[in-house]
Amino acid sequence: MTRFLDRRLETQAPEALRAQQWTRVEALARAVHPANAFITRKWASVGVRRADDLRGWDDFARLPFTRKSELVEDQAAFPPFGGNLTFGLERYVRIHQTSGTTGAPIRWLDTAESWDWWLRCWGFVLSAAGLGPGDRIFFPFSFGLFVGFWAGFEGARALGALAIPGGGQDTAQRLATLETLGVTAICCTPSYALHLAQSARDRGMDPEKLRVRTTVHAGEPGAGIPSVRARIEALWGARAYDHAGMTELGAYGFECEAQAGLHVNEAEFVAEVIDPDRGTPAREGELVLSNLGRHGSPLLRYRTGDRVRMATEACPCGRTFLRLEGGLLGRVDDMLVVRGVNVFPSALEGIVRCFPAVDEFMIEVYRRHEMDEVRLLLEVAGGGNVPAQVQEAVRVQLGIRVETVAVPAQSLPRWELKARRVVRRAGA
Ligand SMILES: [Zn+2]
Repeated sequence: MTRFLDRRLETQAPEALRAQQWTRVEALARAVHPANAFITRKWASVGVRRADDLRGWDDFARLPFTRKSELVEDQAAFPPFGGNLTFGLERYVRIHQTSGTTGAPIRWLDTAESWDWWLRCWGFVLSAAGLGPGDRIFFPFSFGLFVGFWAGFEGARALGALAIPGGGQDTAQRLATLETLGVTAICCTPSYALHLAQSARDRGMDPEKLRVRTTVHAGEPGAGIPSVRARIEALWGARAYDHAGMTELGAYGFECEAQAGLHVNEAEFVAEVIDPDRGTPAREGELVLSNLGRHGSPLLRYRTGDRVRMATEACPCGRTFLRLEGGLLGRVDDMLVVRGVNVFPSALEGIVRCFPAVDEFMIEVYRRHEMDEVRLLLEVAGGGNVPAQVQEAVRVQLGIRVETVAVPAQSLPRWELKARRVVRRAGA
């Protein structure tokens, strides 16, 4: 059964959707300009001096892009919160910061209205995964400064589901929670879902016998990779849904029951795909998003750094929202070039995850003769010649030769948050 948060919004004709978005853009412009110094300065650079100067999508397309580096610089210049604030500080009630995996963390404040908007966005995510009242949704996540599943947790409650916090628990306690409280759905990273299921088996539990029927994943592209998804679904006896969001933008992408890539929530975001070098519209390239309901700290034409490909066919679920084939394909800047072949780490992960004997893995990149070379470190259960089989699969499917090495069980790091499986080594 197809579930919607708002069927009318999610299935309206493209022209109606654009018109509804424009109403939101106008409201946003009037709310943030000229109160928000960051936005006002950026818009002035292209001659937009009043909110009314934005008269249509052509004007919108002339607004400058915003890059993450600008946010970092802005916060360094105006510590600790930066200048992208529409209201006085007393209006803000939530603070989060990025995980800092790719540089200095950025802090983000939300007003009560902006935080409610976050929860509404999660309503779209959870509804599309078939969740709602009656579900018991578990969040094995350390509830700290990183926004992670904070909004999902409160969004579940707002949707009428039972929201179960899993912070401050070790794996054994989390498994006990799953069993005792009759959890029906789990929200966590794909890596952690694999780890939790494996830990259950190691303790003699069968995760399939639990009541978990749905998993929702974010933080890594994993759930959009078919072999990773298949593995999570097989281990849990559940359906795994992909989701995408960013601290500075909000929860923007979700999967429907067709599991045919990520829908972008165009009721709450304006989505563009651009050639990352030229900044011109493209079918495949960098995803650029503007959020429409976070007036306290908005982002317009924000370059996400995520590489995506737009689907051209309608989704069987009936949603007219943009659909991104294969979810997030990788970062525009994380592409490896191995002997002239472009390789995304997610493509390597897709192959490695076809081998159930591999519990965990890592991609080492090193330079030899001025060229990047790749070595896959594989934690293999039960020995055998799995490394050689992985090497052959990579050669056949990607056309490159990589070194594969078996490493001892439990020797590689596990990730509760954003997995960092690509490491660069100085030498061979
Ligand atoms: Zn769909």
